[in-house]
Amino acid sequence: MARTNPAEMRALVARGGTAELASVPMPSMRDGSVVVRITHALVTPFERESLRGLAAAQALPGAESDESRRILGTSFVGVVEDSSRGGSAAPARGARVAVQPVFSCGICERCDSGIGIHCLARSVAGLDAAIGGLAEFAVVPAASCVAIPASLDEERATFAVALARAIEAVRRGGIEGRSFVSVLGDDLFAVLAALVAVEENPLARLVSRREATLSVAAQYGIRHRALDEVGRRGDQELVIDMTGSPETIGAACRMVGPRGHVVVGGISAGAPVAVDLSHLALDEIEMFGSGFGELASALDQLARARVDPAALLSRRASLADAAGAIATLAEPGVFSVLVRVER
Ligand SMILES: [Zn+2]
Repeated sequence: MARTNPAEMRALVARGGTAELASVPMPSMRDGSVVVRITHALVTPFERESLRGLAAAQALPGAESDESRRILGTSFVGVVEDSSRGGSAAPARGARVAVQPVFSCGICERCDSGIGIHCLARSVAGLDAAIGGLAEFAVVPAASCVAIPASLDEERATFAVALARAIEAVRRGGIEGRSFVSVLGDDLFAVLAALVAVEENPLARLVSRREATLSVAAQYGIRHRALDEVGRRGDQELVIDMTGSPETIGAACRMVGPRGHVVVGGISAGAPVAVDLSHLALDEIEMFGSGFGELASALDQLARARVDPAALLSRRASLADAAGAIATLAEPGVFSVLVRVER
């Protein structure tokens, strides 16, 4: 085994639709940024969709993008290694942090108006930024670091990005007081959204195409139904689609009744496919998109064990095995793979 070159680090790099472990230059320090030594990353549907081409579709003009050296990994935690150029509000060296993966410039008109998550120069770790969490180190804006509560271990903290998305999707749906609410999907995001939904409305259910997903719903005590048993009655008041594929968006539109609401909280890199959205106008359906959420509330829910992701941590892998881990997400019952990163 070759000695580690201090000027380089190992990272899982996306190249032409495949992921490979590569030795890349150590990221250089920038003003306003801190160096995070990554300890854990979570392989989720983001990594799969990123490899399938999501990044190209998501990249905004002006966003930092370098397909030849794009590091995968949207959900990651670590320890601050160097905060000397992070500014006065930077977390201290040694702090355990989760990283909000949406990086904004802080000075454009959108950042100025409080929607930095939609910054004109936005880049997202693991999707269209050169930075990713499936690596030994990352240089991230100090403002993107959120302290991990002392009572929360790093393994559970890696679920914060996915849980924050779930919380945001449920919040946008306006779930309280509704009798007919479905979360639709097969993967990690769908189960997390269902867990968040039932906390606020016990009548919420999970609708999935996969037996393994319905089983995990049963394990969590969540009401559940197979998608092909739901029928086309159009009786739901709210459907939260956590996959965002043409098939699931179409199914969600058929499941809601007149003047129902559909929240699309999933993002899919599937090739453009015609979707019959005629229901939108015929039934006066309202559709909302939902994106990344705040990490602080997700970390708080994890710390207080209001959401326990244990049953969704399907496998563990090392950074060397992370490419294979992404492929295993296609298997039924594999919701996420925890990657432990060691230098
Ligand atoms: Zn901005």
